Amino acid sequence: MSQSPAPLSSWARQVAPSPTLAVDAKAKALAAAGEDVCGFAAGEPDFDTPEHIKAACIAALKAGKTKYAPTPGIEPLRVAIAERYLTDYGHKVAAGQVVVSPGGKFSCYLAVMATCSPGDEAIVPAPFWVSYPEMVKLAGAVPKLVLADDRTGFKLTPAQLEAAITPRTRLLILNSPSNPTGAVYTRAELAALVAVAVKHNLYILSDEMYEHLIYDGAKPTCVATLSPEAEARTLIIAGFSKTYAMTGWRIGTLVAPAPLAKAVSELQSQMSSNVTTFAQYGALAALTEKEKTAAALKEMLVAFDRRRKFLHAGLNQIPGMSCLLAQGAFYLFPNISRFGLTDVEFCHRLLETEKVAAVPGSAFGAEGYLRLSYATSDEIIAKGLTRLARFCATLRK
Ligand SMILES: *Cc1c(COP(=O)(O)O)cnc(C)c1O
Repeated sequence: MSQSPAPLSSWARQVAPSPTLAVDAKAKALAAAGEDVCGFAAGEPDFDTPEHIKAACIAALKAGKTKYAPTPGIEPLRVAIAERYLTDYGHKVAAGQVVVSPGGKFSCYLAVMATCSPGDEAIVPAPFWVSYPEMVKLAGAVPKLVLADDRTGFKLTPAQLEAAITPRTRLLILNSPSNPTGAVYTRAELAALVAVAVKHNLYILSDEMYEHLIYDGAKPTCVATLSPEAEARTLIIAGFSKTYAMTGWRIGTLVAPAPLAKAVSELQSQMSSNVTTFAQYGALAALTEKEKTAAALKEMLVAFDRRRKFLHAGLNQIPGMSCLLAQGAFYLFPNISRFGLTDVEFCHRLLETEKVAAVPGSAFGAEGYLRLSYATSDEIIAKGLTRLARFCATLRK
């Protein structure tokens, strides 16, 4: 008699696969099978990495930068990241406070691992980026989801935060500009939330991945600059993926007070070691060849802003649909609760009948919405809007 294999671990059994990657994969499979799909599910810029960044990486590869590097990153990159916080926000940090990781996602995971013990609670405002609750669970901690819907512009209020805190709460996760809603908190709004976190001695994971993808003259806030108390407890996450169209490179950054940064680096030393060495030289060029990088970013921002306004206007013309004009990232998050279908059913039928791919809001902890990414061409947005309007008209009969 052969024995059946032992069960998988509780970690492997409880983790939920990423629903956004799943919808995107399904849309791409349909397209590969010859279907004319309008994809709004992508979570990455549709631009290519700027040439000067690629060239610096290739040069490093040819120059033999092919060996292990220090776990927290090559020194010139850590220095350049520290310098850019000073330039961008007047935030003075030492290179030793910077940890470069294989993707912002891993930076977030390390931040959670460094601050949460089993049984601790982490407050995750919803709609949330899909990985936060799973990361908290993988640390043995408990995600406390607090819904901030379109009535507050998808922004958590200090009163909601205060009400969610218990003696076990250890961490507050903030993400502005937000994936999935595109919402951008003002500096004053963040200061009010941080004051509550300080009062209860929480750590703050501030995911600022979309800090440079921001419109209408809105300003990003670096949460650590709000006060010395904020700085002492904040782990700032950012990276290269979204701002410089470098998702496949896998380079994220974490900046934190020295003892926290050291803890994060030590965790990373046992989990992944350094980011691909020659890739780090590409990232370095993104920060040092400032004019070329600024020009590439400007081009991307002009396109995103145009598409944002176009998609927003088109969505609000569909009877029954309502959508806030988000000021950041490359997502809109329309409310579809008036159509009498769950968002999962809505997305399923939309893909089946009209070949339009969107991610249901419930994947982000907010039933009754869709996440639409406008990191796609103007033509696809136009075609997708026509199909979406036709689909919605069939639901209202
Ligand atoms: C894309 C994204 C990340 C991480 O991106 P990486 O590709 O891992 O660098 C982190 N947070 C949010 C909110 C994101 O959308």
